[in-house]
This record gives sequence, C-alpha cells and structure tokens, in this order.
Amino acid sequence: MSDVTPPVPPRIPLSRIIAPRSVAVIGASEDYAKFGGRILHHVIRHGFAGRLIPVNPRRDTLLGLPAFASIGAAPGPVDLAIVAVPVGQLLQTVGECAAAGVGACIVFTAQLGEFDAAGAALQEQVVAVARGAGMRLIGPNCMGMISATQALGLTSSPTLGQVPALRAGRVGLVSQSGALMGALFIFAHDHGIGLSTMISVGNQADIDLCDMLEALIEDAATGVICLYVEAVSDGARFAALARRARAAGKRILAVKAGRTEAGSAMARSHTASLAGSFAGFEAMCRDTGILLMDEAEGMILAAGVLADCPAMGAGGIGMVVSSGGNGAVTADRMVAEGLPLAEWGEDTRARLSAHFLPSHQNNPVDLGAHTGALGPHIFAEAVAAVADDPGVAALVYLMTPQPLMPQTAEAVIAARARTNKPTVFILDTSRFADEVREQLIAAGMPFVSRIDDALRVLRALVREREMAALAALPAPTRPAGAGPLPASLRDGALTEPEAKALFAAYGIPVTRERVVGDAEAAAAAAVEIGFPVVLKGVSREVVHKSDLGLVRLNLRDAAAVRDAFAAVVAALPEADAAAVVQEMVRGEAEVILGARRDAVFGPQVLVGLGGVLVEVLRDVQLAVAPIGPEAAEAMLRRLALWPLLEGVRGRPALDVGALCDAISRFSWLAADLGERLEDLEANPVILRAAGEGLVAVDGRGRIGA
Ligand code: ADP
Ligand code: MG
Repeated sequence: MSDVTPPVPPRIPLSRIIAPRSVAVIGASEDYAKFGGRILHHVIRHGFAGRLIPVNPRRDTLLGLPAFASIGAAPGPVDLAIVAVPVGQLLQTVGECAAAGVGACIVFTAQLGEFDAAGAALQEQVVAVARGAGMRLIGPNCMGMISATQALGLTSSPTLGQVPALRAGRVGLVSQSGALMGALFIFAHDHGIGLSTMISVGNQADIDLCDMLEALIEDAATGVICLYVEAVSDGARFAALARRARAAGKRILAVKAGRTEAGSAMARSHTASLAGSFAGFEAMCRDTGILLMDEAEGMILAAGVLADCPAMGAGGIGMVVSSGGNGAVTADRMVAEGLPLAEWGEDTRARLSAHFLPSHQNNPVDLGAHTGALGPHIFAEAVAAVADDPGVAALVYLMTPQPLMPQTAEAVIAARARTNKPTVFILDTSRFADEVREQLIAAGMPFVSRIDDALRVLRALVREREMAALAALPAPTRPAGAGPLPASLRDGALTEPEAKALFAAYGIPVTRERVVGDAEAAAAAAVEIGFPVVLKGVSREVVHKSDLGLVRLNLRDAAAVRDAFAAVVAALPEADAAAVVQEMVRGEAEVILGARRDAVFGPQVLVGLGGVLVEVLRDVQLAVAPIGPEAAEAMLRRLALWPLLEGVRGRPALDVGALCDAISRFSWLAADLGERLEDLEANPVILRAAGEGLVAVDGRGRIGA
C-alpha cells in the first residue's frame, strides 16, 4: 500500500501515468476476443498521439505497427506497460518490465490478493519487484484507464469499441471496480458528458484510490472527480485530499458500497478490503464537501451538470414543463423532499402573463396553455423569463413529447449559456428523444432521462450549497470549561457515575447524584438531594439497566428509597453492590448524545432522538468531531425531530441553544479522547423548554488503553 515508502524513488510521477508518452501492450494481438487484442484495437481506434508499442514474440507487425518480441527489445523509454498475462507469467513479466526501465505497469491479471492466500503472496512479490526498481503499479485485477484528455482508451472494456471517439471534458473517475468504470464510461458518453481520465485501481497493491484522487486533483483537465469507493485505507489522507480539492475549486462526488450489510459483504469479497462504516463515511463527506450520491449513474449525471457551472446560488429551483401532469408530480416530489421551488419575481410574472393563462404561470410553468398563436418565441420566452429571474438559482426543463422540440431545446441551451445557472434538462420523450439528444450532446448540454435522476442531481446541487454554508462557519473553538480529560480516567467500561463525571468535566450538565453503599446512605442522600429522586444500580457490566429493573424512578420518601435500594442490589450481577441516588429530572424531550471513533475517519459525534426509540426510529445525525454550536444546529435541523425542538402545535420551543452547546462540548470530549475513544453515550439527555437548559440523566462508555 502507499503508506510503505518505496525503496527506490518512482521512475515517473502519477501525472505521467495518466498522460503517458508511450504505451507498450504486452500480449498484444489482432484478435479482439483477447485482452491484449481489445486494448490494442481501442488505443488505435481512439487515436492516441503517443508511441504505441505492441509486444508479441510471434509477430513482426500487428495492425500495421512494428511489434517487438519482448519488452526488453522494445525501444524505450516506455512510460506505461499494459500487463494482461496469465497469472503464472505475471512475476516474470513484471520483472522484465522493471529491467527494461518501464515507468509503470497497469496489471489486468486477476486471481491475486482478491482471490486466495497464494494469490496474495504472489501479489506481494510482484509489488516488491516493482518497488525495488522504482516502477509503479496499478492493479492487479484492474480494468485499466480511459483518458479522453489523451485520446487514450487503455482498457479491455468492450464499450470502447462501441463509440466513434472519446469525448474530452472535465469529469474524471477513480473506481475500485473495473467493470463499473466501463459501464460509467458508456453511460457518460451516451449522455454527452465529457471525460478527462477514468481509472480503475483494482487491488491497489501499489497505487491506491488516494494516489489517483491526488493525481486528478492536480490534473488541470479534471474539474469534477467521481469516486466509486468500496473501502478507504487511509482516512486522514482521504479527508485531507478532499479538503485540498475543495480549496482548489474541484468537486468530488462519491458512491460508496456498504450502506447495508449486504453491500458490505459484496464489497469485502470484491476487493479483499474491509468496508468502513457507512455512516462514518457520510459524516466525513459532509465535513469535507464530498457529494455522496446513492448510485453511480446519478453520480455521473450530477458531475455532468456540475462540470460547467458554479455552485447553486441563493434562491430556488425554477421549472418549465411541457406536461402539466408530469410537472405537477415532479413539483410535488421536490416539495416533499425539501427542494426549494422559486417564487417568480414581478418581471417574470409580467413576461409570462403576456403568453400564458394565469393557471399556467406558476412554478412549474406549463407550456400547455399559451395564449395567441403557437410559435417558438412563446416557449423560448417562458424559458428565458424563468432562467433570468434573480430568484431562480437552478433551472429545470422537463421535455415530454411536445411541439417545437428542437427550438425549445435551443432556448434552454441559450438560457444556460447566458445565465450560467445549473440547468437540469429532463429528456423524457422515449423514441422522440433522438434528435434532441444529439442536439443537446452537440451543445455540451447535460441531460437526464428520468425524473428520479433529475431529483438526484437537484439534491446534489442543494446539498453542495448546504455544505458550502457549513464550510463557511467559523472553525470550532473549545468552549470555556470543556476539559481537560481527567488524569485519572481509566480504561474499559465506565459506570454511569463515571461517564457522567467525564461529561461534567466538559461542562455538560448532569444530574446531582451520590453513589451509596447501603440503604441508610441512600435515604440520607435522597433527603440531601430533595424528593422525588431516582435510584439506580451501578454496574460496569450492565448496558441497559432498565431491562434488569435497575432503574427506580420518582421515589417520593425515604422508605421508598430504602426499598428500591434493596431491590436493585438484589438484581445487580456484581458482588460489591452500589447504587446511585440522583435528582428526578423533568423536561420536554429525550435526546441521545453519542460519540464513536470511526475506524477510518476518527472521532465523530452523534445526536438524535433519545430514549428507547433511538433504535426504532434511527433519527440520528453524525458529524466529525470537534464541531462548534453552529454546525451542531445544522445537525439538529437535519433530524426528523427538528420540528419538535422548534416547538410544534402549542408545545414550547425547546432549549436548542443549550443542546447545541452540549453537542459541541461532547464533540470536544470525543476529539480529546482520540484513539482512546471506543464509544460514549449520554442517553437520555433531558431537554427542557427554551432558556431552561438540559440534564444528562444517564451515561455509559468504553475507553481504550
Ligand atoms: P438504561 O438506559 O440503562 O436503561 P437510564 O438511566 O437511561 O437506564 O434510565 C431509563 C429511563 O429512565 C431513561 O430513559 C429516562 O426516561 C428515565 N430516567 C433515568 N434517570 C432519570 C432521572 N434522573 N430523571 C428522570 N428520568 C430518568
Ligand atoms: Mg439510558
């Protein structure tokens, strides 16, 4: 992996790998059915301007090019060698490439680290040979690279044989799946999306996802980087690269396998790498500005829209439709998903009412009921009026089979060019699509074919805007009285009072309480704290105290406290029984505050609806720790719980300020624990009405050594 320093400095930089001057194809052939044949055909077909060197011991020429018996016999320097030999010949071939001074090998050969222990051992040997010579290696078990920037189709994917030419553009891809790269290539091509470099990294034995991500960040031709991720090995580097891309004005979009257990299992067997937790990845993406998408084709479509436009500005989405029905359904879905629809300004209303009935001037504008004679100018005026509206931050045109299709498409193309606003063209015309599709492709105008995809792209646009707002927040600063960690903090499971002492050390309000060893002390503590009180068993082992009857609420007198003590002690699994007597807290809502250390991306803080419902409703949000109160509020606004916090139907607004402060403090605690954090939880925190604060009434956690 890339964290191992190569013994010899690399012969060529990554920038040369994606823009090689010369490419040797080992095992080159005329036979399109063979790996080496397909690759040779594809490189020739797409017009690579560099030197192409077929290597084949049985041929003098191949497809009109001089062929060489071995890589050693080929004229150097060779920047890239394509290795698609049977696994039994791999070590020798890579050795010959190393000896011949090849800059980097792209190894297609499979059945290595992803396959079995013998394959993994061979892979290690191959990497050692390459590194020993300073030769870089992509793969093994990869599908190569497609660089439209270089007119270089360096892959066996038959999709390259299907297109007349590579369409160069600003969208790049790094994929941990080779077949997906081929599929996304043809999908992008069919949607008129121009590509820079797509590369599949296979088993990442030497060059990995982060390396290629870095190469594309540095590649001037690439403006938007798509990632298909199964697992990230170096989370800190990945996050740092994402921040660097953002600072350089390049977008990253990602699709991650492993959202569910099924996805994780598939990814594991697929690349011999362990998928990190999906929620942790998602939180890291939000923190670093990566647009996490739910599927790969949607990612490419969104990248196509983003490639040529700035981020969505202030305002809403303006829509023009040729079908009132589909327009209404789309608008409904946008509203249901919280996508903002624009309100027309005065100007727009005036322009629209010149041609359309009042009922058809809304957002979406329905072209179906215009006044006066139908002509292209009417539709063009509708599109222009909406696109020009200063309250419209993004334009959607929904084209169903309609009159004047090419003229209307032209109006959308012109509006996009004039306003430079993100524009989503939905070409929902089935067999009528061909002409307009070619027109859009020729104009470099991205389009989608399904409303679902349009919504995906719009969600991405809006999320990009939200993430930019998050990034613009002040950097979190440590709140007064948050920490430091007590020197006495022990490893292992914490009892409730220990966990709460830790919360208190970070300024998070906890119950007034006293740990007691007998019934009399319990009664005395209750008097001191004031009735009613709560009495709980203190245990290091028990995770859910109430399941074992260890939580006794609302005790109103000393006798009740003594009885509760006896009952709780009898139910405790531990011999040295103790209980805690604490104040009985009343409030409006139960919230969970949590912290966990993501195995790849480090400490993260969690907030959500607390109590028993936490597992049932899963209404939680996660963020990379530490965060400030403003980012904490953004987390709360993403919860389904939010309307309740704001005050709904006569219920009081709750103390959101106190909660944001507590989230921030908890996140600092998580960050300070760092590597020692396993997990930590205050569940519930009882939240009171605005101005009345909150109290953590339960705590648990596990601290590492
Ligand atoms: P556990 O989660 O281990 O079962 P808790 O300490 O969270 O135990 O107690 C269970 C429930 O009892 C809490 O979710 C909360 O509703 C209530 N509760 C616990 N302690 C208090 C307290 N001090 N004041 C008010 N309610 C409490
Ligand atoms: Mg609890």
